[in-house]
Amino acid sequence: MNIHEYQGKEILSSFGVRIQRGIVAHNAKEAVDAAKELTALTGTGWHVIKAQVHAGGRGKGGGVKIAKNLKEVEDITGQIIGMDLVTPQTSAEGKRVHKVLIAEDVYYPGANEPEEYYMSVLLNRSTGRNMIMYSTEGGMDIETVAEETPELIFTEEIDPSVGLMPFQARRIAFNLGLSGTAFKEMTKFVMALYTAFDKSDSSLFEINPVLKTSDDKIMAVDAKVTIDDNALFRHKDYAEMRDIREENPVEVEAKRVGLNYVDLDGNVGCMVNGAGLAMATMDLIKQAGGEPANFLDVGGTADAKRVEEALRLILKDDKVKAILINIFGGIVRCDRVAQGIVDACKNMGDAVKVPIIVRLQGTNADIAKEIIDNSGFNFFSATEFQEAADKVQEALK
Ligand code: GDP
Ligand code: MN
Repeated sequence: MNIHEYQGKEILSSFGVRIQRGIVAHNAKEAVDAAKELTALTGTGWHVIKAQVHAGGRGKGGGVKIAKNLKEVEDITGQIIGMDLVTPQTSAEGKRVHKVLIAEDVYYPGANEPEEYYMSVLLNRSTGRNMIMYSTEGGMDIETVAEETPELIFTEEIDPSVGLMPFQARRIAFNLGLSGTAFKEMTKFVMALYTAFDKSDSSLFEINPVLKTSDDKIMAVDAKVTIDDNALFRHKDYAEMRDIREENPVEVEAKRVGLNYVDLDGNVGCMVNGAGLAMATMDLIKQAGGEPANFLDVGGTADAKRVEEALRLILKDDKVKAILINIFGGIVRCDRVAQGIVDACKNMGDAVKVPIIVRLQGTNADIAKEIIDNSGFNFFSATEFQEAADKVQEALK
């Protein structure tokens, strides 16, 4: 589950990670009140107005702006809220901004120049261990750094039996070229950050930039936090941070009815039982010259109700030109699935406008094929994998 920057910062702060402080606002008036409150709290006169959407690169798209007085806070908030923010990480239509974070300006002048670093915490899947990835090249897009100057990206892997060790935090501070107060601040920052990652059951922290202020404080200026969905049951307060306006509406609907659905860009809808078969089916569609429109695992119970729910989900995507149903009847009998498909289509009437290729294999596959062939619907039946692929190709023509 992804959350907003301001929510990520709340979590970091609750574990003692220093953050750029801010208050969330839903309109210009709230923004001005927030700015006044922040000035009283932090002494800052300047504020940063930051669009809160689930996408990075907001700065580049005009979603992060400095306000030098309350009038500017009001004006800029007015401009940003309601805009469709386009960044390198959004679609061309962009993302509608519903709220902004009014934050203290932390790039104030002082003894030293402010410096930006990159830091993320994530699972290294090849070693099965968490790691901290960091770089002196903060503030910019880390993919570019990885491509052009990979030697400037460092990693520190954490042994799960002992956790992050203080010497590792010191190595990070050293590699970032820090000394004195900033060095101590960074080791504290890193230790707290890792604790936060671990205790919050997150699967990703990306802090870009981590800032060294002109007076040598280390803080998180940005926070991209992804929490492991499977752990939300033990973090009710984090679960409430879900903002479904930021999520794909079809995926939200799928979750509500308990289907494993992932939206994709193609033209062939898929309904499959079992994640492995679903992956293989997507390959099959590609081989047949189509592109899968979704991943959908209907699980073990493919009865009429379930099939109908799945069909309705798939058909919400108007790019879908054909649907491939590929179900292996091991525990569930193929004839019952076939009847389920027919009943679902009867029930849906003319909502089903595209051809459906049905491949049912397993127990009673022959009876199932008969049911499909005699249904009177725009169905193509298949029993073999390749046959299904050919029929998808035919249907797309
Ligand atoms: P992103 O563009 O979505 O990654 O949003 P960030 O939160 O990283 O902000 C983008 C950029 O805005 C940062 O890299 C900073 O350079 C700049 N920025 C953020 N906070 C401040 C601030 O307090 N003062 C100034 N002057 N710039 C800031
Ligand atoms: Mn950032």
